[in-house]
Amino acid sequence: SDDGVLVLMDMGSAVLSAETAKDFLNPEQKKKVLLASAPLVEGAISAAVQSKIGASLQMIAKAAHDSLLPKQEHLVETSPGETAPPLHQSNSGHQKVLELQIQNMDGLHLRPAAKLIGEISKYPCEVFVENVTSQRGPVPANSLGELTRLQIAKGDFARFTITGNDPEPAALALRALIDSRFGEGDTYQNTVASNENLTLPVSPGVAIGFPFLFTPVYTNVPEYRLNSEPEIQAELERFRAAIRKAVSEQNERVKSFGSALSNQDLGVFEAQKLILKDPMITREVEAGIIQKRLNAAAAWAKTLSEQIAEQENAKTSYFQARAADTKEAYHQVLAKLVAPDQPQSLSNMPDSAILICEELTPALAERAFHSGIAGVIQMTGGTTSHGAILARGLGIPAVAGAKNLGSSLCAAGKVAIDGSTGQIWINPNPETVADISCRLEKQKSEKLRIVLTALHPAITTDGVAIAIGANAGSALEIREARKTGAEFVGLFRSEFLFQGFASEPTEAEQESRFLEALNSSDLPVTIRLLDIGGDKPLPFLDPGAEANPFLGTRGIRLLLAKRGFFRSHLRALLRVSKLGRVRILIPMLTELAEIFAVKECLSEAHYQLVDAQISHQWPIEVGAMIETPAAALLSEQLAQHVDFLSLGTNDLTQYVLSAERGNAALTRFSDALHPAVLEVARLVVKAAERYQIGLSLCGETASDPIAVPVWLALGIRSFSLSPDAVAELKELVRKLNISDLNKG
Ligand code: PEP
Ligand code: MG
Repeated sequence: SDDGVLVLMDMGSAVLSAETAKDFLNPEQKKKVLLASAPLVEGAISAAVQSKIGASLQMIAKAAHDSLLPKQEHLVETSPGETAPPLHQSNSGHQKVLELQIQNMDGLHLRPAAKLIGEISKYPCEVFVENVTSQRGPVPANSLGELTRLQIAKGDFARFTITGNDPEPAALALRALIDSRFGEGDTYQNTVASNENLTLPVSPGVAIGFPFLFTPVYTNVPEYRLNSEPEIQAELERFRAAIRKAVSEQNERVKSFGSALSNQDLGVFEAQKLILKDPMITREVEAGIIQKRLNAAAAWAKTLSEQIAEQENAKTSYFQARAADTKEAYHQVLAKLVAPDQPQSLSNMPDSAILICEELTPALAERAFHSGIAGVIQMTGGTTSHGAILARGLGIPAVAGAKNLGSSLCAAGKVAIDGSTGQIWINPNPETVADISCRLEKQKSEKLRIVLTALHPAITTDGVAIAIGANAGSALEIREARKTGAEFVGLFRSEFLFQGFASEPTEAEQESRFLEALNSSDLPVTIRLLDIGGDKPLPFLDPGAEANPFLGTRGIRLLLAKRGFFRSHLRALLRVSKLGRVRILIPMLTELAEIFAVKECLSEAHYQLVDAQISHQWPIEVGAMIETPAAALLSEQLAQHVDFLSLGTNDLTQYVLSAERGNAALTRFSDALHPAVLEVARLVVKAAERYQIGLSLCGETASDPIAVPVWLALGIRSFSLSPDAVAELKELVRKLNISDLNKG
């Protein structure tokens, strides 16, 4: 940007050519480009944090330069406090000293440290921090590198010295941040099974059954030399294809199970994908193939095993947990290189078995779910691995860390587990069996009760029927929606069907994806036109570089800008609409002209299909997604030209409150019950009532038990939400009384 550029250069960088390149700039630009010898990784992180809080280019460069200090200090084993800079003495202002205990599982690791810096940057104060427990510091609290030097672990006391004209607000904010553990929950944090005889809870619930030992088919990694250039090229391609396949499997998984996972778990999923895409790992493996002429599997195994060993030997559980993630990536890619055609078999598994495995990979968790296993015991494994996340999302009880019990587990006739406590019973005695069986019955009947009642309609105590549908993004989710009692699919996010496409899907490809989804149940489905852009870019419809994608060429704006593709999209939708239960929803509307433009394209698509004698539904119902303030303000106008409205509170909230959704620093604004949002939502309800058209709310707020009564009082009578939340919403609605709510 105009603020300047900091260039970090590693050992291999050509300093002279970098300087020459800089010489080509005009003097004004030249002043703002700094070449730095700061370390790449630590330097970039420290620089990014400083840049985020608006520091000057010089300050950013200094932070990058100083970022190795913690490591240097650690390696020369200086005595605590010895290298600490003197406590800064401010000449002016008041001083406030706070001493607080850090409760985060991994102490003040990178994420909380970055949050701390962000928070204090909001106040005109200087803050210094000391680790009172290990007598490190004080250090300025605005530097990530300095903060990590303090090595503040869980339970350590940190002293904050705040100086300024009014240090009180900063002190309050700091206390709140530390009390909230920097927004990190305390369940399933980066825990891994240790080597001691200690098992870990991974996924709640009890299970009892016969142990079934699962051994992966690729325990031995073949190693051989490549003899020729074509062999090297072929092996490189095999490696790249394996990585592509692994990444696309991850995407599919997020798509299939996303609704069953919490945002925090989804975040872990996304982060783990980065291991597969890590350019340093790729470079090293490819160097192994090209320079050492190793086959891809051996090169991959070598690179990853080294990383895993390093991470496993780390002192902190935080880094040990990363080993579990790396192992998962290791196995995932290796399976593709070593035994691509040989799926690991669960076919001879007895009914209701307890699966015993080294680590629960996502693929294994998926297959275990479909084969009806009762529970999982992992020999090693962590609590934040993909497999662990999926087990929780799919409701499979699981524990980890049973390494030392390995041989007795395999020899046992029966085993039982409690996934909430991590307890394992080998050949449990009759009392334990009775106790577990009783808990199991309760567990089953609770699940059954929810599922059975979910199939009944949701009617309030004063007799008002509320329609409850599901949001979906895949065939699997539509199928789940049917099972969990959804009466319709109120929002089908079609963009998730085309994530694997690098180029525009053809009309036939689109039709077949839509058909596959629609054929997975008999529910009526509202298909949203591709909502690409914002946080959902797709490579084949690129709006180009945008400074502000959420305010950019997104949703219907992008489709109208690419009319050729748009018509093929509409033709595919019209073709599948012959099933008779499809409606079309327009995303990101801002004005009436867009509805007219869509209708024009739709009728062109219709006539093209007529000419080609292709059967389809005509006319088709078209709805408007109300998710921009403009659409909400104009909803009376829009309502006269569409068949239904859909209230998208996720985007409406971000646009009304001018607070980017997903921005962790702005979570307090992700509140659909904000009076400003309710005010515009009221207009939408009125418009739907006045023109007698359907209105359904399809944002996340539909699964918030506090928000639902408010929406009902406002006049919403139809909701669409994650399939897994349908049953609970139905149960909640059955307890509410609309007349009482209106009185409130
Ligand atoms: C919304 O914006 O409220 C919505 C449901 O759509 P999405 O979350 O897909 O943007
Ligand atoms: Mg939206």
